[in-house]
Order: sequence, then structure tokens, then C-alpha cells
Amino acid sequence: MPDFGFSIKTARTENLDKVSLEKYRELLRKVPSFKRCFQCGCCSATCSAQQYTNFNIRKVHTSFRRGEYNLLSEELKKCMLCGKCTLLCPRGVNLRSLIMNMRQLLEEPVK
Ligand code: SF4
Ligand code: SF4
Repeated sequence: MPDFGFSIKTARTENLDKVSLEKYRELLRKVPSFKRCFQCGCCSATCSAQQYTNFNIRKVHTSFRRGEYNLLSEELKKCMLCGKCTLLCPRGVNLRSLIMNMRQLLEEPVK
């Protein structure tokens, strides 16, 4: 195949028959304010950890929402739990609580 200098991105479609969203449902039970998230990205734009690392909290909670849990535990270790994202979220999502609960849920086996 000729090299065109670019490649087509792999589709990120979600196969709901293959992923378990049980952890996400449990997260919504524990942090109901997460239902209000409309993916604006303010949390990642203002994140303290993002100034020093490649941490992206919006990407992390979006992956969690999609049932893509691989590598999230490692990513979440970069968060300093400073709480700035919680203060700045326009929808009042309790991100600090969200992060702590994601950490906890990721340690539990997938049902
Ligand atoms: S700032 Fe709030 S509403 Fe915006 S993406 Fe982050 S959690 Fe969602
Ligand atoms: S609590 Fe974590 S995700 Fe939120 S701004 Fe601080 S370092 Fe970033």
C-alpha cells in the first residue's frame, strides 16, 4: 500500500455487548452530579496536574463513561486532588469525589 503520509484513525465506536458499564453505573450512584457533565473540557483546561504532565481529566472520565478502564488507574495517579476542577466546573460536578470514586472502583474486579 502506498504511503500517503497520513493514516485513518481507528474508529472509537462502542460495542456495548463487549464492555461492562457496571462500574460507570455505580459511579453515577455514588456521584450523581456527574450526570450533569456536558463534556465542556473546563476541568482539563484548568487542571493543575496538566501543567506538569500529560494528564487529561476529561479524557479519563470520558473513557470511564465508555467502559474503557485500561490504564485509567495509572492515569489517575497523576491527579493531585487539589480540587480546582471542582471549583471551576460550570455544571457543578463534584470532580474531586468523582476521581476518588473512580480510583476505588478501578481497584474492584469487573462484574
Ligand atoms: S468541567 Fe464539568 S461539565 Fe465540563 S467536562 Fe469537566 S466535569 Fe464535565
Ligand atoms: S483535582 Fe486533579 S484533576 Fe482536578 S484540577 Fe486538581 S489535579 Fe487536576
